[in-house]
Amino acid sequence: MNRKDFLLNFDFASYVSNKFTEVYETSDEDRVRVNCPVCDDTKGHLYILISAGLPYCQKCKYDPKSPVRFISDVEGISIREVLAMADEGVSFTTMDVDVESIVDDLIQDEDDIQFDYSSMSLGQNFVSVVELSGIPGIDRHIKEARRYLSSRGIGKNVAKKFGIHFCYDGEFAGRIIIPCFYQGDLVTFVARDLYGHSDRKYLNPKGNKQSDFLYNYDSIKGDTVVLVEGVFDAIHNSQVAPTVASFGKSLSNRQINLLNGFRRVIFYWDLDAYPQVEKYNRRIQSECLAVLHTDGKDAAERTMEENKNLLQGSIPIDSVEYQMFKLEHLG
Ligand SMILES: [Zn+2]
Repeated sequence: MNRKDFLLNFDFASYVSNKFTEVYETSDEDRVRVNCPVCDDTKGHLYILISAGLPYCQKCKYDPKSPVRFISDVEGISIREVLAMADEGVSFTTMDVDVESIVDDLIQDEDDIQFDYSSMSLGQNFVSVVELSGIPGIDRHIKEARRYLSSRGIGKNVAKKFGIHFCYDGEFAGRIIIPCFYQGDLVTFVARDLYGHSDRKYLNPKGNKQSDFLYNYDSIKGDTVVLVEGVFDAIHNSQVAPTVASFGKSLSNRQINLLNGFRRVIFYWDLDAYPQVEKYNRRIQSECLAVLHTDGKDAAERTMEENKNLLQGSIPIDSVEYQMFKLEHLG
Protein backbone atom coordinates (compact mmCIF):
# COMPACT_ATOMS: atom_id res chain seq x y z
CA MET A 1 0.00 0.00 0.00
CA ASN A 2 1.36 3.38 -0.87
CA ARG A 3 0.67 6.87 0.37
CA LYS A 4 -1.95 7.38 -2.32
CA ASP A 5 -3.97 4.32 -1.25
CA PHE A 6 -3.94 5.49 2.31
CA LEU A 7 -5.15 8.94 1.33
CA LEU A 8 -7.93 7.45 -0.81
CA ASN A 9 -9.28 5.74 2.30
CA PHE A 10 -8.66 8.42 4.85
CA ASP A 11 -9.87 12.01 4.92
CA PHE A 12 -6.55 13.63 5.67
CA ALA A 13 -7.80 17.19 5.05
CA SER A 14 -10.49 16.81 7.73
CA TYR A 15 -8.04 15.19 10.06
CA VAL A 16 -5.72 18.19 9.83
CA SER A 17 -8.45 20.76 10.25
CA ASN A 18 -9.96 18.92 13.24
CA LYS A 19 -6.69 18.15 14.90
CA PHE A 20 -5.08 21.56 14.80
CA THR A 21 -6.87 24.46 16.43
CA GLU A 22 -5.01 26.96 14.32
CA VAL A 23 -4.69 26.29 10.62
CA TYR A 24 -3.03 29.11 8.72
CA GLU A 25 -3.76 29.40 5.01
CA THR A 26 -0.96 29.92 2.53
CA SER A 27 -0.97 31.29 -1.01
CA ASP A 28 -1.59 27.73 -2.17
CA GLU A 29 -4.90 26.36 -0.82
CA ASP A 30 -3.55 22.82 -0.86
CA ARG A 31 -0.78 23.91 1.47
CA VAL A 32 -1.56 24.83 5.09
CA ARG A 33 0.54 25.78 8.06
CA VAL A 34 -0.03 24.58 11.61
CA ASN A 35 1.90 24.72 14.86
CA CYS A 36 4.44 21.93 14.79
CA PRO A 37 3.65 19.35 17.51
CA VAL A 38 7.18 18.02 17.43
CA CYS A 39 9.09 21.18 18.39
CA ASP A 40 6.43 22.99 20.48
CA ASP A 41 6.21 25.62 17.79
CA THR A 42 3.66 28.44 18.16
CA LYS A 43 4.22 30.23 14.85
CA GLY A 44 2.88 27.72 12.31
CA HIS A 45 6.16 26.36 11.04
CA LEU A 46 4.75 22.99 10.04
CA TYR A 47 3.73 23.06 6.38
CA ILE A 48 1.35 20.37 5.21
CA LEU A 49 0.72 19.59 1.59
CA ILE A 50 -2.80 18.23 2.04
CA SER A 51 -3.32 16.35 -1.23
CA ALA A 52 0.01 14.57 -0.89
CA GLY A 53 -0.32 14.07 2.87
CA LEU A 54 3.17 15.43 3.42
CA PRO A 55 4.12 17.59 6.41
CA TYR A 56 7.42 19.40 6.82
CA CYS A 57 8.58 21.63 9.69
CA GLN A 58 10.75 24.56 8.73
CA LYS A 59 11.84 25.02 12.31
CA CYS A 60 12.89 21.55 13.49
CA LYS A 61 13.09 19.92 10.05
CA TYR A 62 10.60 17.27 11.12
CA ASP A 63 9.92 15.38 7.91
CA PRO A 64 7.98 12.14 8.34
CA LYS A 65 7.55 11.73 4.56
CA SER A 66 4.21 10.03 5.11
CA PRO A 67 0.74 10.90 6.42
CA VAL A 68 0.67 7.56 8.25
CA ARG A 69 3.83 8.26 10.16
CA PHE A 70 2.73 11.82 10.79
CA ILE A 71 -0.56 10.72 12.37
CA SER A 72 1.25 8.07 14.34
CA ASP A 73 3.65 10.72 15.68
CA VAL A 74 0.92 13.23 16.48
CA GLU A 75 -1.39 10.71 18.14
CA GLY A 76 1.34 8.66 19.75
CA ILE A 77 -0.04 5.46 18.26
CA SER A 78 1.52 2.73 16.14
CA ILE A 79 1.53 2.61 12.37
CA ARG A 80 -0.84 -0.35 12.54
CA GLU A 81 -3.32 1.70 14.52
CA VAL A 82 -3.14 4.50 11.98
CA LEU A 83 -3.75 2.07 9.18
CA ALA A 84 -6.76 0.81 11.10
CA MET A 85 -8.14 4.37 11.06
CA ALA A 86 -8.36 4.07 7.30
CA ASP A 87 -9.97 0.69 7.74
CA GLU A 88 -13.43 1.73 6.62
CA GLY A 89 -12.07 2.03 3.13
CA VAL A 90 -11.62 -0.67 0.54
CA SER A 91 -8.84 -2.79 -0.99
CA PHE A 92 -6.49 -3.45 1.90
CA THR A 93 -9.14 -4.02 4.57
CA THR A 94 -10.16 -7.55 3.58
CA MET A 95 -9.60 -10.14 6.26
CA ASP A 96 -6.97 -12.11 4.40
CA VAL A 97 -4.61 -9.18 4.21
CA ASP A 98 -1.69 -9.41 6.58
CA VAL A 99 -1.05 -6.15 8.44
CA GLU A 100 2.63 -7.04 8.56
CA SER A 101 2.86 -7.05 4.79
CA ILE A 102 0.89 -3.82 4.51
CA VAL A 103 3.40 -2.15 6.76
CA ASP A 104 6.27 -3.72 4.84
CA ASP A 105 4.83 -2.53 1.56
CA LEU A 106 4.23 0.89 2.96
CA ILE A 107 7.79 1.20 4.11
CA GLN A 108 9.07 -0.29 0.90
CA ASP A 109 7.11 2.18 -1.21
CA GLU A 110 8.61 5.02 0.71
CA ASP A 111 12.05 3.56 0.36
CA ASP A 112 11.60 3.36 -3.37
CA ILE A 113 10.66 7.00 -3.52
CA GLN A 114 12.95 8.50 -0.96
CA PHE A 115 15.93 6.26 -0.86
CA ASP A 116 18.56 5.08 -3.24
CA TYR A 117 21.53 2.82 -2.76
CA SER A 118 23.78 0.71 -4.89
CA SER A 119 24.36 -2.98 -4.50
CA MET A 120 27.94 -4.21 -4.27
CA SER A 121 29.80 -7.50 -4.34
CA LEU A 122 32.86 -8.99 -2.69
CA GLY A 123 35.80 -9.65 -5.02
CA GLN A 124 37.96 -12.75 -5.40
CA ASN A 125 40.18 -11.58 -2.54
CA PHE A 126 37.35 -12.23 -0.08
CA VAL A 127 36.90 -15.83 1.04
CA SER A 128 34.22 -17.38 3.22
CA VAL A 129 35.49 -18.39 6.65
CA VAL A 130 33.25 -21.43 6.52
CA GLU A 131 35.21 -23.33 3.90
CA LEU A 132 38.93 -23.80 3.52
CA SER A 133 40.37 -22.79 0.16
CA GLY A 134 42.99 -25.50 -0.14
CA ILE A 135 45.67 -22.82 -0.43
CA PRO A 136 47.80 -23.09 2.74
CA GLY A 137 48.72 -19.37 2.84
CA ILE A 138 45.06 -18.41 2.85
CA ASP A 139 43.78 -21.24 5.02
CA ARG A 140 46.17 -20.19 7.77
CA HIS A 141 44.29 -16.86 7.92
CA ILE A 142 40.90 -18.53 7.70
CA LYS A 143 41.77 -20.68 10.71
CA GLU A 144 42.93 -17.63 12.61
CA ALA A 145 39.70 -15.87 11.68
CA ARG A 146 37.71 -18.84 12.97
CA ARG A 147 39.63 -18.75 16.24
CA TYR A 148 38.81 -15.08 16.62
CA LEU A 149 35.13 -15.60 15.81
CA SER A 150 34.91 -18.50 18.21
CA SER A 151 36.40 -16.29 20.95
CA ARG A 152 33.45 -13.97 20.32
CA GLY A 153 30.96 -16.80 20.57
CA ILE A 154 30.49 -17.21 16.81
CA GLY A 155 30.64 -20.80 15.60
CA LYS A 156 30.68 -22.19 12.09
CA ASN A 157 26.91 -22.32 11.57
CA VAL A 158 26.43 -18.77 12.73
CA ALA A 159 29.37 -17.59 10.58
CA LYS A 160 27.71 -19.28 7.62
CA LYS A 161 24.31 -17.77 8.35
CA PHE A 162 25.79 -14.26 8.51
CA GLY A 163 28.03 -14.75 5.47
CA ILE A 164 31.23 -13.89 7.31
CA HIS A 165 34.33 -13.63 5.10
CA PHE A 166 38.03 -12.97 5.38
CA CYS A 167 39.88 -10.60 3.05
CA TYR A 168 43.45 -11.59 2.22
CA ASP A 169 44.48 -8.91 -0.23
CA GLY A 170 43.88 -5.24 -1.02
CA GLU A 171 42.45 -2.40 1.04
CA PHE A 172 40.81 -4.74 3.55
CA ALA A 173 43.58 -7.34 3.75
CA GLY A 174 43.90 -9.08 7.11
CA ARG A 175 40.32 -8.27 8.09
CA ILE A 176 37.23 -10.26 8.97
CA ILE A 177 34.35 -9.09 6.80
CA ILE A 178 30.82 -8.85 8.18
CA PRO A 179 28.52 -8.14 5.22
CA CYS A 180 25.44 -5.99 5.62
CA PHE A 181 22.48 -6.68 3.36
CA TYR A 182 19.42 -4.66 2.52
CA GLN A 183 16.56 -6.24 0.58
CA GLY A 184 18.92 -9.03 -0.33
CA ASP A 185 21.59 -6.72 -1.73
CA LEU A 186 25.01 -6.39 -0.19
CA VAL A 187 25.14 -2.68 0.65
CA THR A 188 28.09 -2.31 2.99
CA PHE A 189 30.29 -4.30 5.33
CA VAL A 190 32.29 -4.02 8.50
CA ALA A 191 35.97 -5.01 8.12
CA ARG A 192 37.49 -5.91 11.48
CA ASP A 193 41.29 -6.02 11.78
CA LEU A 194 42.19 -9.60 12.69
CA TYR A 195 45.83 -9.22 13.65
CA GLY A 196 45.87 -5.82 15.32
CA HIS A 197 48.28 -4.51 12.67
CA SER A 198 46.19 -1.48 11.85
CA ASP A 199 45.49 1.46 14.13
CA ARG A 200 41.96 1.36 12.73
CA LYS A 201 40.21 -1.62 14.21
CA TYR A 202 37.17 -1.23 11.96
CA LEU A 203 36.88 -0.08 8.37
CA ASN A 204 33.99 0.05 5.97
CA PRO A 205 33.87 0.44 2.19
CA LYS A 206 33.15 3.64 0.32
CA GLY A 207 29.84 3.98 -1.50
CA ASN A 208 26.63 3.59 0.45
CA LYS A 209 26.47 5.29 3.81
CA GLN A 210 26.59 2.76 6.62
CA SER A 211 24.21 4.96 8.62
CA ASP A 212 21.51 4.43 6.00
CA PHE A 213 21.15 0.83 7.13
CA LEU A 214 20.62 -1.36 10.14
CA TYR A 215 22.80 -4.43 10.27
CA ASN A 216 20.77 -7.68 10.04
CA TYR A 217 17.57 -5.80 9.18
CA ASP A 218 16.68 -8.20 6.36
CA SER A 219 16.33 -11.21 8.60
CA ILE A 220 13.88 -9.68 11.10
CA LYS A 221 10.37 -11.05 10.66
CA GLY A 222 8.44 -10.12 13.80
CA ASP A 223 7.33 -6.78 15.18
CA THR A 224 9.83 -6.58 18.03
CA VAL A 225 13.51 -5.92 17.49
CA VAL A 226 16.51 -5.52 19.76
CA LEU A 227 18.85 -2.69 18.81
CA VAL A 228 22.53 -3.10 19.65
CA GLU A 229 25.53 -0.98 18.69
CA GLY A 230 27.94 -3.30 16.95
CA VAL A 231 27.71 -6.07 14.39
CA PHE A 232 29.30 -8.64 16.69
CA ASP A 233 26.76 -7.76 19.37
CA ALA A 234 24.00 -8.26 16.80
CA ILE A 235 25.30 -11.64 15.64
CA HIS A 236 25.71 -12.87 19.19
CA ASN A 237 22.38 -11.56 20.44
CA SER A 238 20.52 -12.83 17.37
CA GLN A 239 20.90 -16.26 18.88
CA VAL A 240 18.63 -15.06 21.68
CA ALA A 241 16.26 -12.57 20.01
CA PRO A 242 15.75 -10.77 16.66
CA THR A 243 18.51 -8.16 16.70
CA VAL A 244 19.79 -5.35 14.49
CA ALA A 245 22.82 -3.10 14.95
CA SER A 246 23.01 0.66 14.49
CA PHE A 247 26.80 0.75 13.89
CA GLY A 248 27.29 3.00 16.92
CA LYS A 249 25.47 5.21 19.37
CA SER A 250 23.63 7.41 16.93
CA LEU A 251 20.70 6.94 14.59
CA SER A 252 20.15 8.64 11.25
CA ASN A 253 16.64 9.67 10.16
CA ARG A 254 16.74 6.79 7.77
CA GLN A 255 17.52 4.31 10.54
CA ILE A 256 14.75 5.83 12.64
CA ASN A 257 12.37 5.28 9.74
CA LEU A 258 13.40 1.64 9.55
CA LEU A 259 12.87 1.23 13.30
CA ASN A 260 9.46 2.88 13.04
CA GLY A 261 8.34 -0.17 11.09
CA PHE A 262 8.48 -2.21 14.30
CA ARG A 263 5.91 -2.14 17.05
CA ARG A 264 8.55 -2.37 19.72
CA VAL A 265 12.25 -1.53 19.86
CA ILE A 266 14.43 -2.72 22.74
CA PHE A 267 17.58 -0.60 23.10
CA TYR A 268 20.59 -2.60 24.16
CA TRP A 269 23.28 0.02 23.83
CA ASP A 270 26.30 0.53 26.04
CA LEU A 271 26.04 1.77 29.58
CA ASP A 272 27.17 5.29 28.63
CA ALA A 273 24.50 5.63 25.94
CA TYR A 274 21.35 6.12 28.06
CA PRO A 275 21.14 9.86 27.25
CA GLN A 276 21.13 9.06 23.52
CA VAL A 277 18.59 6.29 24.07
CA GLU A 278 16.26 8.78 25.76
CA LYS A 279 16.72 11.27 22.95
CA TYR A 280 15.80 8.67 20.32
CA ASN A 281 12.91 7.41 22.41
CA ARG A 282 11.31 10.79 21.80
CA ARG A 283 11.83 10.54 18.06
CA ILE A 284 10.89 6.93 17.41
CA GLN A 285 7.19 6.25 17.30
CA SER A 286 7.50 2.54 18.16
CA GLU A 287 7.26 1.57 21.80
CA CYS A 288 10.85 1.88 23.10
CA LEU A 289 12.26 -0.20 25.92
CA ALA A 290 15.74 -0.27 27.38
CA VAL A 291 17.85 -3.03 28.81
CA LEU A 292 19.00 -2.10 32.30
CA HIS A 293 22.63 -2.88 32.80
CA THR A 294 25.02 -1.69 35.37
CA ASP A 295 28.39 -2.85 34.09
CA GLY A 296 30.45 -1.91 31.06
CA LYS A 297 29.84 -5.07 29.07
CA ASP A 298 28.17 -5.19 25.69
CA ALA A 299 26.00 -7.96 24.26
CA ALA A 300 28.89 -9.83 22.63
CA GLU A 301 30.69 -10.11 25.96
CA ARG A 302 27.77 -11.69 27.76
CA THR A 303 26.52 -15.24 27.63
CA MET A 304 23.30 -15.97 25.80
CA GLU A 305 21.67 -16.72 29.14
CA GLU A 306 22.70 -13.33 30.52
CA ASN A 307 21.44 -11.59 27.41
CA LYS A 308 18.14 -13.43 27.60
CA ASN A 309 17.66 -12.35 31.21
CA LEU A 310 18.59 -8.75 30.45
CA LEU A 311 16.10 -8.60 27.59
CA GLN A 312 13.36 -10.09 29.74
CA GLY A 313 14.04 -7.36 32.28
CA SER A 314 13.92 -4.51 29.77
CA ILE A 315 11.42 -1.76 30.60
CA PRO A 316 9.73 1.14 28.78
CA ILE A 317 11.90 4.25 28.69
CA ASP A 318 8.91 6.36 29.68
CA SER A 319 8.27 4.38 32.83
CA VAL A 320 8.79 5.36 36.45
CA GLU A 321 10.80 2.19 36.88
CA TYR A 322 13.27 3.45 34.30
CA GLN A 323 13.64 6.75 36.17
CA MET A 324 14.23 4.83 39.38
CA PHE A 325 16.89 2.75 37.71
CA LYS A 326 18.64 5.87 36.52
CA LEU A 327 18.56 7.47 39.94
CA GLU A 328 19.94 4.36 41.50
CA HIS A 329 22.62 3.41 39.02
CA LEU A 330 23.51 6.31 36.81
CA GLY A 331 23.48 9.20 39.26
ZN1 LIG B 1 8.90 21.49 14.25
